[in-house]
Amino acid sequence: MTDYRLVYYSANRLNGTAEQKEADIDTILARSRRNNDSVGVTGALTFSDGYFAQVLEGPQGAVEVTFERIQQDGRHSDVHLLEFVPIADRTFSNWSMAYVGKAVEGSKLAGLGATTGFDPAKISGQQLFERLRDLLLAEQAVA
Ligand code: FAD
Repeated sequence: MTDYRLVYYSANRLNGTAEQKEADIDTILARSRRNNDSVGVTGALTFSDGYFAQVLEGPQGAVEVTFERIQQDGRHSDVHLLEFVPIADRTFSNWSMAYVGKAVEGSKLAGLGATTGFDPAKISGQQLFERLRDLLLAEQAVA
């Protein structure tokens, strides 16, 4: 069965202190990992003060249903779908939901901005996907 990759970004609506936001992210990740694992979806998530960005991979129907649910979530808004394409291989097959966290705080998200102007409307799904993949590989290399 052909797998699909979906890439989106959204506006982060998490409130509170940095600690509260981290706790909220932990909650989202725990729920995501449990749900995704049960339907064969894998991927990666990152966030900044302003945005979430996420890649979902898996069977078309499972990715669609998961994304439908995600779009209803009040912890973010203005969800912009950038890419939904068939793929030959998964990139995040080892992660029910990888968290690309520390690497994206501040400077490196700014790096994303530097290459794109960080007008989210100008970031292609392919660019965002490659950025998350590369940051995750970089984090693994120093772990
Ligand atoms: P519960 O977790 O019990 O949630 C029940 C309902 O309450 C849901 O509608 C949920 O949206 C809402 N809710 C829960 N906590 C809050 C809160 N603090 N503020 C506002 N609303 C809340 N889910 C996945 O399954 N896979 C993913 O990959 C995934 N990625 C996500 C990425 C982002 C950026 C965000 C914000 C959420 C993501 N979620 C993901 C969570 C998803 O939006 C749903 O909350 C979750 O799938 C619902 O799981 P559940 O049915 O077990 O219900």
